[in-house]
Amino acid sequence: MEIGVPREIKDQEFRVGLNPSSVKVLCSQGHQVFIEESAGEGSSFSNKDYEKVGAKITDRKFVWEKDLIIKVKEPLAEEYSYFKKDQILFTYLHLAANRTLTEALVTSGITAIAYETVALEDGKLPLLTPMSIIAGRLSIQIGARYLEKQQGGRGILLSGIPGVSSAQVVILGGGVVGSEAARIALGMGARVQIFDINVERLRYLETIFGSRVELLHSNIYEIEKMIPKADLLVGAVLIPGRRAPILVSKDLVSKMNPGSVIIDVAVDQGGCIETLKATSHSSPIYLEHNVVHFGVPNMPGAVPWTATQALNNSTLPYVLKLANYGLEALKKDTSLEKGLNIKDKSIVHPALKEVFSDIS
Ligand code: NAD
Repeated sequence: MEIGVPREIKDQEFRVGLNPSSVKVLCSQGHQVFIEESAGEGSSFSNKDYEKVGAKITDRKFVWEKDLIIKVKEPLAEEYSYFKKDQILFTYLHLAANRTLTEALVTSGITAIAYETVALEDGKLPLLTPMSIIAGRLSIQIGARYLEKQQGGRGILLSGIPGVSSAQVVILGGGVVGSEAARIALGMGARVQIFDINVERLRYLETIFGSRVELLHSNIYEIEKMIPKADLLVGAVLIPGRRAPILVSKDLVSKMNPGSVIIDVAVDQGGCIETLKATSHSSPIYLEHNVVHFGVPNMPGAVPWTATQALNNSTLPYVLKLANYGLEALKKDTSLEKGLNIKDKSIVHPALKEVFSDIS
């Protein structure tokens, strides 16, 4: 199959859909890989690195003509005109929060398979997990920085010091992002609370963290009690295929201490804090009610060398199946089939269908 890898054009996005090691595996199985000029540069892979393993370096238009397009982030408006019928797009899409892209994909007739809805039998999301691990770990690293006075924060050291209390980190959602955030926050000496709606998950988190983390059931009563005390609030909820639920109202944000920090990792699904708007790596924060808001939807883009390799380790088995079998791969692999969002000008993912019942 002919596979195209465009250069990412989202602000400050330096990851790339295929790294040279994935390209080598694909070429060794008889596929042709076309990489857009400089697509790997941001992840420290040169055009030469790709050519050495059999890829051809070419321009954006030519890359987008291929049968299978492998990307990292969702296509932006200037890429919509490249979509075509009988083409497969495999990338992060997060369509529930993006009506315009959903409509463009449906209209074009392209088959869109979303990394984030590929799901294993037990419900785990193998292509979201590596980026969630990175985003969860980064959320605390970044949050700690914005708590510094010169960055707009309260001037609190996450760990405190003997005699001065440490920062209170509140994490909404104890899945992959939430548990990785907790791991780093604990490592940095903060006091940590995790809210989750799933009691089984809370029990599991207790087996990992013991009594070092306070594990709370996510309900309006508990949330309203705890949010005003949070120095660093991390949004990490997910209901697969749906917009994130709003768990923290504007009124509740106004009760937080001035200089507190919100890092809403769930911003790619619409965010779980009412006052949170998507931001970007170039302009990552803004103040509302004197609280620092951070809502970058592509946080792992900050560490592209790590993130591209982590992503490829997980996507390559599915890319190989699509390259070898085309759309037949969906019948051979039920996990991959769950990734199917749009096909034959219709929305096929059940949760997305509910969100956009008026489309198709
Ligand atoms: P996950 O499925 O592992 O965890 C989500 C958790 O949220 C689950 O434990 C679930 O029980 C919990 N939850 C659902 N509804 C809840 C509620 N009302 N209250 C409290 N908890 C609730 O998902 P994840 O991999 O941790 O991803 C979390 C979010 O982070 C997703 O929106 C994902 O797309 C996003 N994400 C963003 C970035 C970024 O760069 N911004 C990167 C990776 C992941």
